[in-house]
Amino acid sequence: MHIAVIGNGIVGSCCAAWLQRDGHRVTFIDPLGPAEATSFGNAGSLSPSACLPVGMPGMWKRVPRWLLDPLGPLSVRWRYAPVVAPWLLRFLRASEPAEVVRIAGALRGLLSPIFDCYEPILQRAGATSLMTRSGCLYVYSGPEAARQWKWGMDVRRSLGVELRDVGEEELVSLEPDLKGRFRFGILAPENGSTTDPAALTRAIYARCEVDGATAVRARATGFRMSGTDVTAVQLEGGRELECDGVVLAGGAWSARLARQLGPPVPLETQRGYHVTVASNNLGLCHTVMAVEHNMMVNPMGMGLRLAGSVEFAGLSAPPNFARADVLLARGKEMFPHLDTSRTTQWMGHRPCLPDSLPVIGAAPRAGNAWFAFGHGHIGMCGAASTGREVANLVAGRMPQIDLAPFAPTRFRRAA
Ligand SMILES: Cc1cc2nc3c(=O)[nH]c(=O)nc-3n(C[C@H](O)[C@H](O)[C@H](O)COP(=O)(O)OP(=O)(O)OC[C@H]3O[C@@H](n4cnc5c(N)ncnc54)[C@H](O)[C@@H]3O)c2cc1C
Repeated sequence: MHIAVIGNGIVGSCCAAWLQRDGHRVTFIDPLGPAEATSFGNAGSLSPSACLPVGMPGMWKRVPRWLLDPLGPLSVRWRYAPVVAPWLLRFLRASEPAEVVRIAGALRGLLSPIFDCYEPILQRAGATSLMTRSGCLYVYSGPEAARQWKWGMDVRRSLGVELRDVGEEELVSLEPDLKGRFRFGILAPENGSTTDPAALTRAIYARCEVDGATAVRARATGFRMSGTDVTAVQLEGGRELECDGVVLAGGAWSARLARQLGPPVPLETQRGYHVTVASNNLGLCHTVMAVEHNMMVNPMGMGLRLAGSVEFAGLSAPPNFARADVLLARGKEMFPHLDTSRTTQWMGHRPCLPDSLPVIGAAPRAGNAWFAFGHGHIGMCGAASTGREVANLVAGRMPQIDLAPFAPTRFRRAA
């Protein structure tokens, strides 16, 4: 089949790579080059352990603080609050304990095969060196602080995530740069990361091109249909691309196109920021998650990346780089000896559903369209397994994971 893949971020690129393995011809549609949107600047963590949703029990108590502290780890811009309120209500409903356990089980299914699903496409792209399996350290100011997050860690453990408590002495021996600030850690040895998320995405995309994929640099605006089949993707400027099938992987911008092929999907953007310290003088060898600051620190090829922050302000508001300054200030607190003389800042749009699960499945109102978007905080982690499952769906094969929790129709049921 000739499949049009809308979006050339990590999800679209992985879908294309897996589709090509089945012999399909791929055309990417995107006004941007590969990895120029959210897949450019994320924290690069590839974590089978990242199976907890963003909404956790008791979160509703923190809503007033989100509104009052514009620079807190999670904030809602006042002007955007009425727009996002219905979404936040669904998000808080999904943070009930039983829901969290259900969601974590589904995410664990998607994330356990991270490396099995990346391995073959990275090998073909000659880019396995961009993926490391060095483990992640969740770090805390002390064991008492860690107790607040124990329930979530226990949910992870119950799903088979390997987690090992690490006392202060061992923590310092694993990562001497953490000395003095953190007294307790939890090691997730099976986690990995990429040394450059943009380079990893571009390597997969470039290999797809070598294997015959073509690209149309334009925004998709709609679909020409024949009965329930998409026969062409309509592009801005009135052009069309004829195709036998379509995969929608447009990240945070997918909702409008998805609406043409099914019921509404409550897709929201959680804007996140990074600071990359090019002058990195630390010797970190793990990904470090500073849980109390909600910040991930990852040593990468281009420097030390400090990433995090959740901001609800929509797709069009300009970035508030004061949030990136907060990340840098936290980084300096964590590592007083960090050389911050050369830094860059960035903001990206995480594509988020209220239940923290992506949408993966057949488009409800088309016989030859599939959805692959909404990966939120775990798009790098979940892209390759999403690609494998999309290829299974297109081929009519049995999915290798239970896709029911990711169904595009699940919000209709909830409504
Ligand atoms: C600060 C931060 C840190 C993060 N850290 C991690 C992490 O450590 N690990 C992890 O797994 N994830 C992380 N994420 C999340 C991850 O970056 C995203 O989930 C992932 O990049 C989403 O990929 P995507 O391909 O769906 O979207 P994108 O990379 O945003 O790509 C979507 C593409 O679709 C195109 N598009 C949209 N609409 C149209 C249209 N109508 N027509 C044509 N093209 C269209 C866009 O131009 C864009 O190129 C982080 C995110 C942020 C912001």
